[in-house]
Amino acid sequence: MTTALAPHRTPPPPVKVNGLEVIGVEFAETPLSTPAKPVHFKQIVKILLEDGSVVYGCAWAGCGFIGDTAIAVRPHLKAHKPDTEPGKKLDAPDLSTLTVSELLELAWSAQTLRLDLERTTRERERLAKSLTEWKQRAQTAQRRLSSIQKVLAPVT
Ligand SMILES: [Zn+2]
Repeated sequence: MTTALAPHRTPPPPVKVNGLEVIGVEFAETPLSTPAKPVHFKQIVKILLEDGSVVYGCAWAGCGFIGDTAIAVRPHLKAHKPDTEPGKKLDAPDLSTLTVSELLELAWSAQTLRLDLERTTRERERLAKSLTEWKQRAQTAQRRLSSIQKVLAPVT
């Protein structure tokens, strides 16, 4: 079974994880969390699936990294940290103010943007290639024309 995404799906689809529909997303609680004083991870979400099972995911838009536990997702978060300048935050998402549906929408639009970018890049490469081809054709035509003119010159 392939997990490749269809490139041209337009309507926001029901978001699925492991083939199961996502019915809820919330920030995962850290091991320090207590009912009296809940503490949540800022970059790890708890994802509730239609069959009642729970998985944990990276909260970065469009990432889609999934783990069985919040702790399993944690090492992956390094992937989003810039290697240099530890003080500088690059596009860290402020997800705390978003609703679940906004969160899912964000993930979806990031995915769409990425596909758009890939398409645009491909298109640009294609155009650049055809431009080169046209230049070559034009040069060839020019050469032919001048050789024909040379041949015809004595006649005219
Ligand atoms: Zn991630």
